[in-house]
Amino acid sequence: MISLIGIGVSGESCIGTLSFYRKNRTAVPEYKISDTQAELCRFEQAHRQAIEELKELQEQAGQKAGGEEAAIFEIHQMMLQDQDYCGFIRDAIQNQHANASYAADMAAGHFSEMFSAMEDEYMRGRAADVRDISERLIRLLNDGQADTPESLFAQSGTEGFILAADDLAPSETIQLDREKVLAIVLRHGSQNSHTAILARSLGIPAVIGLGDGLSEEYEGMQAAVDGAAGKVYICPDTETLHAVQAKSEQAGQRRSRLSRLKGTANMTNDGKKIELYANIGSISEIKQALENDAGGIGLFRSEFLYLENTHLPAEDEQFAAYRQAAEAMGGRKVIIRTLDLGADKQADYFPLEAEENPALGFRAIRICLAHPDLFKTQLRALYRAAAYGNISIMYPMITSVEEVEAAKKIAAEAQQELAAGGIPFRSNVETGIMIETPAAALISSELAPMVDFFSIGTNDLTQYTLAADRQNPNIGQFINPHHKAVMRLIKMVVDNAHQAGIWVGICGELGGDISLTRTFLKMGLDELSVPPGLVLPVRDAIQNIDLSQEEKKEIENHI
Ligand code: PEP
Ligand code: MG
Repeated sequence: MISLIGIGVSGESCIGTLSFYRKNRTAVPEYKISDTQAELCRFEQAHRQAIEELKELQEQAGQKAGGEEAAIFEIHQMMLQDQDYCGFIRDAIQNQHANASYAADMAAGHFSEMFSAMEDEYMRGRAADVRDISERLIRLLNDGQADTPESLFAQSGTEGFILAADDLAPSETIQLDREKVLAIVLRHGSQNSHTAILARSLGIPAVIGLGDGLSEEYEGMQAAVDGAAGKVYICPDTETLHAVQAKSEQAGQRRSRLSRLKGTANMTNDGKKIELYANIGSISEIKQALENDAGGIGLFRSEFLYLENTHLPAEDEQFAAYRQAAEAMGGRKVIIRTLDLGADKQADYFPLEAEENPALGFRAIRICLAHPDLFKTQLRALYRAAAYGNISIMYPMITSVEEVEAAKKIAAEAQQELAAGGIPFRSNVETGIMIETPAAALISSELAPMVDFFSIGTNDLTQYTLAADRQNPNIGQFINPHHKAVMRLIKMVVDNAHQAGIWVGICGELGGDISLTRTFLKMGLDELSVPPGLVLPVRDAIQNIDLSQEEKKEIENHI
């Protein structure tokens, strides 16, 4: 048995036969062209076609995996339309008389090197994306034939196999036949790559970064892939085989047990109920929320409408999106958070001044209150869409009573304008605020009577309470959402909400942390909003809790 160690990118395991996918990387032809105009036309045509192909992949990814995964191919379209990237290719054709495919190959080399040299790990992961889009262009400029893992599927007949390769482009990963590809094992790749993200979403066991140890000599051999441990065993011994088999069976049993929880209540053994909603960042994720039986949408990050656009989304554009969300969820609650731009979320068409500490700067409600027209446009769209479903409105990053007053004033103006214009809308819309600053938590007794609900944003609440930038990968050890300070603030917010007779939930990542579910139930939280894939695991945890059994003093332990 040979053991290879890499990075596990999904927790799944499996056993199968290795099949190597060797890309036919014929050298890109290099020659000088005399008619630069004709070559530029050829490039523009291939470019248009590449965009069309990526739109199709975007749709396919949305259906197979979800909104975030579909966005990968939207990013590819944006990269392909990037002025620097296209300018590089056009310049090489026009001024160096390079043939278009060679110019695209040079662009791949230039930009992927640039990304690889960046400090930011996320940006380094983009090198693979720029190579992927360039290969698409080169293919279209040459014979148009796709070089895909399809050839392997043909060879393998009906049998499933473990796909081994140097690396796999995101566009190849999304097209994998899930019936046939039991797992992916790669020599290269990074945890942050879009290929890794896609493998996780598709539930394909995957281990990357295995290096040259993953030799082609192992073609056709049996392998056991342990995605959780990041290990691949070639010709596994009986003991290893049984261990990996057991892991894979347990995962399968867990999946079917969770799926049997659909339609059941979020209720503890001793009868305490809690609402369980889903967090989403785009309309396409509603499908996942419903598939996972979420009781509603607890946080709809409306930024997607702004960040995915090349212009400020108009009122009608927003109305259509919110209405679609409300209708898709039937009568279930859809809590739409108003614009949370700034800090890590920037839109080119809405430039914000560079700041020393953007997380402590001009963001979210601060931007909205400084740009009442921008804010009012969103509020008008929300009140109009509320006539078509169960929409609630939520304001982010509140730090004071005055901000809530100012937001309510603009909301009232939006309603008056709609009424004056004879535009149909609903006025009695549930309105809440996010408690994600220590200031809001500490004055929650004063804020509670002003609103209908609180939703605790533990991601920001943790960063601001612990003075630990959530974007800084070097201070991970300081970002501890279990910290007593965070837990005490949560408890204080719950008590103050209930004192004022309003409901309170958590929509930060901590809501999905099942090690705290019991504590949250004891604290009296009314709602937890979690990523769609965590709805059923959290329901499972809730159903296995009996609050009447006081074997541990949960709250006291945490705060
Ligand atoms: C939070 O801060 O916990 C939250 C849910 O908002 P976001 O992660 O979008 O900042
Ligand atoms: Mg936040």
